[in-house]
Amino acid sequence: MKVAGETRTHCPYCALQCGIRISGQVGEVSIAGDTDFPVNRGRLCVKGFTAAVTLRHGDRITSPMARSADGVLEAISWEDAIDRIGAAVERTQREHGRDAVGVFGSGALTNEKAYQLGKFARVGLSTSSIDYNGRFCMSSAAAAANRAFGLDRGLPFPLADVAEAEVVVLAGGNVGDTMPPLMQYLEAQRARGGRLVVVDPRRTVTAEEATLHVSLVPGTDAALVYGLLHVLIRERMVDEAYIAARTDGFERLRALSASYWPNRVERITGVPEGRIVELARLLGRASSVIVLTGRGPEQQSQGVANASAYINLALALGMVGRPNSGYGCLTGQGNGQGGREHGQKADQLPGYRDIRDPEARLRVAGVWRVDEASIPGPGRSAQEMLSTLGEPGGVRTLLVFGANPATSAADSGMIEERLASLDFLIVSDFFLSETAALADVVLPSAQWAEEEGTMTNLEGRVIHRRAATAPPPGVLTDLEILRQLAERLGRGAWFPSSDPQHVFDELRCATAGAPADYSGISYERIDRERGVFWPCPSAKHPGTPRLFTDSFPTADGKARFFVADHRAPAEEPDRDYPLYLSTGRLLAHYQTGNQTRRVETLQQIESRPRAQIHPATARRLGVTDGDEVVLTTRRASGRFPVQVSSSLREDMVFLPFHWGGELSANRLTNAALDPISRMPEFKVCAVRIDGITTAGVNE
Ligand code: SF4
Repeated sequence: MKVAGETRTHCPYCALQCGIRISGQVGEVSIAGDTDFPVNRGRLCVKGFTAAVTLRHGDRITSPMARSADGVLEAISWEDAIDRIGAAVERTQREHGRDAVGVFGSGALTNEKAYQLGKFARVGLSTSSIDYNGRFCMSSAAAAANRAFGLDRGLPFPLADVAEAEVVVLAGGNVGDTMPPLMQYLEAQRARGGRLVVVDPRRTVTAEEATLHVSLVPGTDAALVYGLLHVLIRERMVDEAYIAARTDGFERLRALSASYWPNRVERITGVPEGRIVELARLLGRASSVIVLTGRGPEQQSQGVANASAYINLALALGMVGRPNSGYGCLTGQGNGQGGREHGQKADQLPGYRDIRDPEARLRVAGVWRVDEASIPGPGRSAQEMLSTLGEPGGVRTLLVFGANPATSAADSGMIEERLASLDFLIVSDFFLSETAALADVVLPSAQWAEEEGTMTNLEGRVIHRRAATAPPPGVLTDLEILRQLAERLGRGAWFPSSDPQHVFDELRCATAGAPADYSGISYERIDRERGVFWPCPSAKHPGTPRLFTDSFPTADGKARFFVADHRAPAEEPDRDYPLYLSTGRLLAHYQTGNQTRRVETLQQIESRPRAQIHPATARRLGVTDGDEVVLTTRRASGRFPVQVSSSLREDMVFLPFHWGGELSANRLTNAALDPISRMPEFKVCAVRIDGITTAGVNE
């Protein structure tokens, strides 16, 4: 690899999108944190420092591949690959209808790719069957924010505000492992005398740093928050003036919270009554409070209700839209923010437009130069599309871009079976993921430092991901793959260019006047200003680092309290499955591990998933570190080494989800969906431990 001089670009992994400087050549590429980028300010985590390893890794796919008659993936030409895909699409749509061809995208794709993929589904394939893996990540918080504020931007304020808040509540997020450079804001906040409250069933590295760690029973966030509100209302510590002026629906919240007296909440959540009162008073007395949620409360079958409860807390305290205050969710995937704005969601058109909205359809149809009636309506959400693959009425030919649902979906063993039942599976990726290994055709695509594009970080800051090197010979960008596929399908006129800037210019037009308005953002502006916050409706507009300062983008300008009673998770421990199972991430790996499992330094830190159990559970079972156990849920079993840890509750097991196949945590998880966001319940299900192996002896 030859990197011409030094290139400033961004880390390929999480939504912090740390600025990096990359330079050098084969074998000696060096990566350093970009001290001028205002988000990470020079800091990187171990994943970012080692990211260059993936660029010329020996596992890289450098030729299209197709499955031979004896079931082996063999190299074929690009012409052959595109033609086989075109023939499969035509055959499936002829025999089963247009929606029988589906597209599955990713929150890792650039804005340009997410936009083009959504357009390709609606204009290139005329199918409603498109969704993406962000449904497994951000959908609950996004739905809650849209309902409450009329707009979803993960953080409606810059990260710098976090450092200035008097109290920060972080619920179900472990940034110390997942986004270490973000810790500098929390460190600065505490150095100024601020208080950090971490709500998490585990005493994570982040919770270790907290002023107050609230360890709750998994799946009980909403009950805890209504307990806090009960105390705040009882002690007249809510902001009545703000509630009257800027919100609607508080009386429903008051009525519901009345029944969540603290000793009842203690029985539900396991959080002592005294601690509930202490936390409520801490919040009620603070002049500025930021409430942040991570995947803990969101990846549940009541994920929207949980996120809404935390939003209600911030609204009742009068904090949303005030300086150094408010509610935000910590987006996970690299482009988890932009990826949920530009049309790869089943119900969405670019700019966060609703595909059911006649005005939005007309506007986008004009940019796409198609008849509005030709744009399909909403399709099925990710888990619903995946769980009906190959079935009558389901998708029979699927194109996957940058995602690995065989490992990332809940109840992934079932999803693997459904993927295998497809008539035709196409996967575009740079490594042979567990999903790509099942494909009929695999397309080798360019990755982060090999292509231009924009990403939108967790703050809503649109940034420029610059290319530092060319992709290996034989590898194409996803934009070029989509252009060639459209041409093969006779739709080339609608996809004339694979140049990222051309696609971005079209995206700008398509989002003009929309909630996520990018029309005033250009590559040049991003470079000059080190990122631009959307909405940014004109070249002269300064961008919008802070939202909701004066009003909310709702019909009457007020925020809404959405109130839903606490509901237990779909599965709770019982006699047969006596513990909670919760899944999550580790410092050394990212999402399904398709990249990070190939990086030796990261593998040395964590080479396989270990089942974390409490010392009391370990004593009861007679196991110690390194012994193996079988974890069994109602869906599957898996054998894992034990890691005894006093950092988690006695009633739970924690398992990281970065591995596939036999080591997949998601073979165990529950696909019960949130009724609004359609988020699966990754964070809570019931599990039992048996099949103990100690010193080579099976019990
Ligand atoms: Fe930064 Fe996230 Fe990359 Fe780590 S993984 S360097 S926190 S962007």
